[in-house]
Amino acid sequence: MFALAVPAVVAACLIHSPDLDREIGRRALPWLPPDLARQVVKHEREFGRGAKAAAAWPASYHLAGGQQGVERAIALQCDRLVAAIRSRQPFAEVVAGFGTLAHLSLDCNSPFVRARVTDAHTQAFGAYMRNAAPRIPLVFYGQQEGLVRGRAGAVAPYLTSRSLDASTLGALVREDLDRVGGPGSWPRLDDRSTSFGAASLVLNHAASDFANLASWVWHNAGGLVPPVRDGQGTILIWTAEPQPREKVPRWVRREGTTGETPSTRLGFRQDRP
Ligand SMILES: [Zn+2]
Repeated sequence: MFALAVPAVVAACLIHSPDLDREIGRRALPWLPPDLARQVVKHEREFGRGAKAAAAWPASYHLAGGQQGVERAIALQCDRLVAAIRSRQPFAEVVAGFGTLAHLSLDCNSPFVRARVTDAHTQAFGAYMRNAAPRIPLVFYGQQEGLVRGRAGAVAPYLTSRSLDASTLGALVREDLDRVGGPGSWPRLDDRSTSFGAASLVLNHAASDFANLASWVWHNAGGLVPPVRDGQGTILIWTAEPQPREKVPRWVRREGTTGETPSTRLGFRQDRP
């Protein structure tokens, strides 16, 4: 079973719980290649199973750096997925493998991905993210053309920059938790807190990374990856329940209309692509 290629041992992910991985899959639905998004919806349980399996992988796979770090685990998982799709593995198994990839994408964006020891602050932030997730808007940070259309070897350099960005949030979250009385007081954080902003960045960057990595897999396995309109250099906000987008978007078929789902997405130009 390729999704479980690394045997589950005693260690488990202490950065976040697997139910947040489903949230990553849910948030990514509008930005995934549509054919893949429909499979993810269809095999939702398997997606959760793959995420849970990843959570049981040894501790080093959930942390940044090294031959057994999360970036390497993601690159290997992407290669495994390409091979599985090309060799026509059942889609239930393939989607389980994408659940694993979603878990690792969230780890890679954790503010604590570079901390060697999991502590009370890490666990408090994980609990807070679960609590805050329903109130966090769905934001997509854009389709990364260089990655999505890239061949083998495109994944690793992209990921190293991601986990570096994420780790800068760690000190801010610790300070914020201490401000309200320490890790045990996380329920006192409100939606104007630094931690809410951090949780929003973490979940949405993880979902954006997952959508881009999954697109790389799909493209390299021979699948169709339609461009996301304004996907470069624009932050897109999805304002409805997330769902797979159309395979041939309406803006391609009907010239002069404003887009695929004009009422569900808003675009904002980013300062930096
Ligand atoms: Zn993990």
